Amino acid sequence: MAEKITAYRFDRLDQTLSQLNKEDCVIMAGGTDVMVLHKSRRGVPPKISRPIVFIDHLSELKQVYQNQRDLHIGACCTYSELLENKLIPMPLKNAIKTIAAPAIRNRGTLGGNICNASPAGDTLPLLYVYNAKLLLRSVNGDRVVAISDFIQGPRRVQRDQNEILAEIILPSVLEEGSHVVFEKVGNRNADAIAKVGFAGYIRINDAQIEDVRFAFGAVGPTMVRSIDIEKKLLGKTIPLADADIAQVVAAFDKIIKPIDDQRSTAIYRKKVALNLLRYFLSMKQYQPN
Ligand SMILES: Cc1cc2nc3c(=O)[nH]c(=O)nc-3n(C[C@H](O)[C@H](O)[C@H](O)COP(=O)(O)OP(=O)(O)OC[C@H]3O[C@@H](n4cnc5c(N)ncnc54)[C@H](O)[C@@H]3O)c2cc1C
Repeated sequence: MAEKITAYRFDRLDQTLSQLNKEDCVIMAGGTDVMVLHKSRRGVPPKISRPIVFIDHLSELKQVYQNQRDLHIGACCTYSELLENKLIPMPLKNAIKTIAAPAIRNRGTLGGNICNASPAGDTLPLLYVYNAKLLLRSVNGDRVVAISDFIQGPRRVQRDQNEILAEIILPSVLEEGSHVVFEKVGNRNADAIAKVGFAGYIRINDAQIEDVRFAFGAVGPTMVRSIDIEKKLLGKTIPLADADIAQVVAAFDKIIKPIDDQRSTAIYRKKVALNLLRYFLSMKQYQPN
């Protein structure tokens, strides 16, 4: 017989936060990771030892709006909703289109992808190069943390038991002249978990690099990004000299340390990651998007 599970579904966010403050619960947004994580053998309902609190319906967590130069995205917006929203930047939409299939995209949320903290989470490389900030809300108030500080390792995030990720803030998304790409290598164009993910961000002024950022997914316990390596390219002229490209690729070669698993090999992952970086750096022109 199926075991009883306590589940809460409050009308408002403040009621939800108050419950989280009293009791350690499993937060369920779309549930597409939670249900897999707790799955039992075929025909047997999932085993979830703590009470569940549903948040997917809370309108406070589903707003998308601009505040000055920042874009605020409600953590419980589903992928399908984000694809329909005019404010969402095209590179993020391109990444979302590679995630799973429409049924999962109708349930899965951006906040869930972040809090699940999988090294292969497809939105994460882009969120790292956008310097995304996360707004965490609890009965004690709000705090804002950089995504790179929030995600600590595979399925490990710096979230207190009483906190909900309320909004994802993209501070630089509206910076003029930036060119941003997302590339995912998997067995298929979509409905496949990434073997390698890559996001590149570059802003040029008068042929000189003003800002440049790279993040790699699925090649380490969490996204690989190095501000020290990025700095080496500031002020350089486009197109980049072969020696500059080689220097940056060699520097990432040292810090990208993938593993073999059921999806790919470490050797393949490293080769592809460095090829994607080389390809991005070798572009003759970067069109703002
Ligand atoms: C068939 C299938 C295919 C998939 N394909 C892909 C893919 O191609 N690429 C990819 O990146 N992922 C993929 N996923 C994983 C999953 O769909 C995504 O990670 C999705 O974004 C998770 O969102 P969710 O709302 O379903 O999260 P949930 O399962 O509800 O939650 C995930 C985790 O985050 C926590 N959480 C969720 N929201 C919040 C919040 N607002 N505040 C605090 N904690 C929160 C939960 O407690 C849980 O620990 C796939 C999953 C399935 C089942």
